[in-house]
Amino acid sequence: MTSPANESPTEHSHAERSLNFIEQIVEEDISAGLHEGRVLTRFPPEPNGYLHLGHAKSICLNFGLAQRYGGQTNLRFDDTNPVTEDTEYVDSIKDDVRWLGFEWAQELYASDYFDQLYAFAETLIEKGLAYVDDSTAAEIAALKGTPTTPGQPSPFRDRTVAENLDLFRQMKAGAYPDGAKVLRAKIDMASPNMHFRDPIIYRIKHAHHHRTGDTWCIYPMYDFAHGQSDAIEQITHSICTLEFIPHRPLYDWFIEQLGIFPSKQYEFARLNLTYTVMSKRKLKRLVEGGHVTGWDDPRMPTLAGIRRRGYTPDSLREFCERIGVAKRDNLIDVGLLEFCIREELNRTTHRVMAVVDDKPIKLVLTNYPEGQEEIMHIENNPEDPDSGTREVPFGREVYVERDDFMEIPPKKYFRLAPGQMVRLKGAYIVRCDEVIKNEAGEVTELHCTYIPESRSGSDTSGISVKGTIHWVSVAHAIRAEVRLYDRLFAAENPAMEEKEMESEDDNAFLSLLNPNSLVVVQALVEPNLAHRPVGDRVQFMRKGYFTVDADSTTDQLVFNRTVTLKDTWAKETKKG
Ligand code: ATP
Ligand code: MG
Repeated sequence: MTSPANESPTEHSHAERSLNFIEQIVEEDISAGLHEGRVLTRFPPEPNGYLHLGHAKSICLNFGLAQRYGGQTNLRFDDTNPVTEDTEYVDSIKDDVRWLGFEWAQELYASDYFDQLYAFAETLIEKGLAYVDDSTAAEIAALKGTPTTPGQPSPFRDRTVAENLDLFRQMKAGAYPDGAKVLRAKIDMASPNMHFRDPIIYRIKHAHHHRTGDTWCIYPMYDFAHGQSDAIEQITHSICTLEFIPHRPLYDWFIEQLGIFPSKQYEFARLNLTYTVMSKRKLKRLVEGGHVTGWDDPRMPTLAGIRRRGYTPDSLREFCERIGVAKRDNLIDVGLLEFCIREELNRTTHRVMAVVDDKPIKLVLTNYPEGQEEIMHIENNPEDPDSGTREVPFGREVYVERDDFMEIPPKKYFRLAPGQMVRLKGAYIVRCDEVIKNEAGEVTELHCTYIPESRSGSDTSGISVKGTIHWVSVAHAIRAEVRLYDRLFAAENPAMEEKEMESEDDNAFLSLLNPNSLVVVQALVEPNLAHRPVGDRVQFMRKGYFTVDADSTTDQLVFNRTVTLKDTWAKETKKG
C-alpha cells in the first residue's frame, strides 16, 4: 500500500481499535492452523435490488477481514430465485462494490452451481434423506406444527428412494406445473428448530432465469443453495446477519450429510439507521410507487443514492469502521454518518459563495464607481493552507440572501439592517442606508455605502463588524438549481413504528415519509462554479456541502446538498 493510504484516518482507527469478535475468531483460527491459515470470505448479495448502507457494512467487514489477514473475498451473486432477479441489479452491485473501493478475487453465481446442487439433492435422496412431496403449500404448513408442538409427517414421507429419484427427475424434466410437487429434506418433524422440520429444498418454477435462461424449471431454495455455495467455493468464514442463526444448524447438517467443505458461518447485527428503512423490498416499493425518483435518488440509503448525494467511499468506510461489528441489533443515529462526511468535506472542499434563495436581495453600493470591477482573492479552504486562493469578481451590485437582512432586527442580529454595517466576505464592509421596496411591500434592493479602506487583506478602516455575509456579483452570477435534501422519513425508526401501527397494509410505512425531504431552490452562484464536472464537491459558505448532480445541463448546473454545515436537527431538538 502507498503511504498516503496508510496515513488516512480510516487506517489509523483501524490499527488502533480493538479487534471485533469476528476478527478474534479469525485470529484464533489462523493460530490453530485451520485451513492452513487461509482466509476466504465472500459478499453474497441476491441481485434483486440495489445495495444499501447495510450492505456496505457487510462489504467492509468481508473485504476488510480478507485484507487484514492476507486473504481474499469473492463476490457471489445468490441468484437462486429467477422471478425477482435481474442483470440490472448485478451491474449496479458490481459498480457499488468497486466504488466503495474493493476488488473481488472471483465473480461467482450460485446459479453456476445448479448442476452441482441438483446432484447434491440426488445424493440426499439416495441416502434416504430427501423425498418428493405432493402436498400443497397449505397442507405442508398445516402439518408443520408450532415452535412448542411437534409437526406431523407428510403422507408422502415414506416414498422409496427409487420412487423419489424418478419423481425428482420428472420434476426436473418439466413433467409438472408450478407448485405440484416439492423436494423436502427428511430430517425431524419434531425438532425444536422449525428449519429442521423437513425443509423444502427444491421447488418447481417455470420461470426464465437471468443467467440460465429456460434450462431449469426447478430451483433450489435459498437454504439449500447458500451453505453449499460457500462449501463449493471453500469459503473459510461465511459471515451473515443474525436472522440466519437458526439456519446455521441446517447448513451444517447439509455439509455433514454431503461430506463437503466445512465452511463455518458467523452472524453479526444488521445495520439499522435512524430516519430511513434498510430493506430492499421497502426501498423497491419507494421506487415503484414514485415516492423517490429512482434507486439513485439522493435521499435513498442505497449506495447509488448516497453517492449521488455527494458521499465519498472514504466517508462510508470510516462510518462502517466506527459503527463496529455487534452481536445484537441496534439502531445507529444517521448523525454519525453525516458526521463522517462532514469531517472529510471540511478537510477537502473549497469554500465558494452561492446565494441560495429564490428571491435574493440586490445590494447597490451607491458610492462604488459605475462600471468598475475588482477581483477579490478569497481563500479556498482555511483548513488547508495548501489550497490557495481563487479570484472572485466584485462590482457595484451584488446579490445577498433575503435571510441576511432584517428591517427591524432583534438585538443580536449582526447582519444587514437599516443603518447597520456588515462585511461582504473577502471584500468590503458596507453600511445599509436605504431600503427599496416594490408595490407589494417586498424589499427588492438595499442601497449601501461601501468603506473603500476596508478591503479584506488590506483593511485600514479601523471599523470592526460582527457579521460577515456571502454574496455574488450581479454581473457575474450564474444561475443554478439547488436541491436541499433532508431525511427521507419523518419517523426516527420507521420499521418499528410500522410494526406498532399493526396495519395489514404493506404500504403503511409510506405515511411516515418526510414530506419536506426535498426542497428545490434557485440560486445564484459565483462564476468559478461554471463547468464543474458532475460529482464535484464544494462547500457553499455558511450553507453546507454540495455536489454537482448528473441532471446538470450546459445551461444550468444542479447541485445536491450532501449535508448541512452543522447538525441542524440536534439544534432543533435542543430548542424543543
Ligand atoms: P434486504 O432485506 O435489504 O433485501 P438481504 O439480507 O436480503 O437484505 P442480500 O442481498 O441477501 O440482502 O444481502 C447480502 C449480504 O448483505 C448478506 O450477507 C446480508 O446479510 C448482508 N446485509 C443485508 N442487509 C444488511 C444490513 N442492514 N446490515 C448488514 N448487513 C446486511
Ligand atoms: Mg435477501
